[in-house]
Amino acid sequence: MSATVLVINSGSSSIKYQLINPATGDSLASGLVERIGEDEGHLVHKFGDVRVEESDSILDHGAGLRRVVELCAEVGPDLNASGVIAVGHRVVQGGALFDRAVRVTEDVRDAIASLIPLAPLHNAPNLRGIEVGQEVLPDIPHVAVFDTAFFQHLPKKAANYALERVVARKYGIRRYGAHGTSHQYVSQRVTELTGREDVKQVVLHLGNGASASAVASGSAMDTSMGLTPLEGLVMGTRTGDIDPATVFHLVRVAGMSVEQIDDLFNKRSGLKGLTGHNDMREVRGMANAGDVGARESLDIYVHRLRKYVGAYAAVMDGIDALTFTAGIGENDPYLRADVCEGLSFLGLEIDPELNAARSSEERVISTPDSKVTVYVVPTNEELEIARQSVALLSSPEAANAV
Ligand code: ADP
Repeated sequence: MSATVLVINSGSSSIKYQLINPATGDSLASGLVERIGEDEGHLVHKFGDVRVEESDSILDHGAGLRRVVELCAEVGPDLNASGVIAVGHRVVQGGALFDRAVRVTEDVRDAIASLIPLAPLHNAPNLRGIEVGQEVLPDIPHVAVFDTAFFQHLPKKAANYALERVVARKYGIRRYGAHGTSHQYVSQRVTELTGREDVKQVVLHLGNGASASAVASGSAMDTSMGLTPLEGLVMGTRTGDIDPATVFHLVRVAGMSVEQIDDLFNKRSGLKGLTGHNDMREVRGMANAGDVGARESLDIYVHRLRKYVGAYAAVMDGIDALTFTAGIGENDPYLRADVCEGLSFLGLEIDPELNAARSSEERVISTPDSKVTVYVVPTNEELEIARQSVALLSSPEAANAV
């Protein structure tokens, strides 16, 4: 019986889970519990050819996870027989406290709670997922894997803002980054694919949230998300980079509150704010149908991406590899072509046929002569969480807390 890990990503009203064999990367079962706490909740559980869908009220996260464990007993996979050696939890914000995965203890839970002000929308439900996970599956070790850990040792010149030191230190204001689990997984794959430990690479994670990272010899040199995931690229609903004085201006001239501006920048901007749709497929459909606003919005999206790739090439004195990942990066050849078109100064050239070919596999889409190898690498954050959980439990640090 090979070891498996149950990976849990707990959101404010949802629990996403997957049972993974970290050695093979196989997903044995997966599912999603949604609309927790609403009148009618929703649950989908998949195991091989079996697909169970239920619509019923799900009182809270505990009830949701208990139902998942029941379903595993009813339709499979039998968790007792699946060799579950760890439950790996995704935690968005590890602040300056965590630079790697840790086994969950009371101290670790307290530390995650102390970081809630930095990521209120994420850390609070992540912690809830850990608490109910430990209640429902008390005999299995629980591991917290932090989305910020990969960026914890950014060079200081990249991590620090030019903010008055006393204030920055007192309030922990620095670049923590996010999506680190994905950037770590993808950059590691690229290192393996190139066969070069010293590869200088840029990874573009383009999903609903979007971020770029600069990675040299396996270490993160810079990343586009900052104190929070708001900074950087244009995203589905977030502004990305914007002059911070916009906040003062909106307070002064529009009389907006901090909460309203938070909502505006995080939930009503980005592609959604520009076009009315946060989904790239919709935006591209509008642009293809001749919508000028949608075309302009894509231009803004692509312009920001090119700026980051160029900046990161400067940060690392050139790049050897550029990789696209996540929903848009993996599936939108037009976007990849648009970004790469403006990067010929790097000696980067994509092969239009390789770029256009539909595939869900890792692949090279640049020409053999291109000075920068361009990859599409499907991200797999769940597998990375499973692997880190197993690596931690088989290391002497397993018992360490904060
Ligand atoms: P999340 O950040 O929620 O995990 P995903 O990585 O699943 O997001 O990416 C979602 C984004 O991927 C959406 O904007 C969606 O429109 C986009 N996407 C998915 N398939 C395609 C496609 N074939 N062409 C363009 N965009 C796509």
